Amino acid sequence: MPVSGLRILRSACLGALAAALPDFLEPADSSHHRRFFHSVIALCGLGWMASRVVRMPPSEFRSDLLALLAGYGSHLAADALTPRSLPLC
Ligand SMILES: [Zn+2]
Repeated sequence: MPVSGLRILRSACLGALAAALPDFLEPADSSHHRRFFHSVIALCGLGWMASRVVRMPPSEFRSDLLALLAGYGSHLAADALTPRSLPLC
């Protein structure tokens, strides 16, 4: 299945939006803002969802879901590397 530039741009935009979602749900207004949507449990849930999505037949919907999961997961991975890291739940 050939991938068009527009398709790549769409995935990049979806990933960027999803990467902003954790701080939209739990605004970074203090150093203790990370709760459930920034948690290890949420990251595990993302991993579980990704393991299900990769088994789906190739489609634009599957690509969109993977872009969303990767974007959200990249935010949590970046936060996990900070000194405060992620709460368990
Ligand atoms: Zn964050």
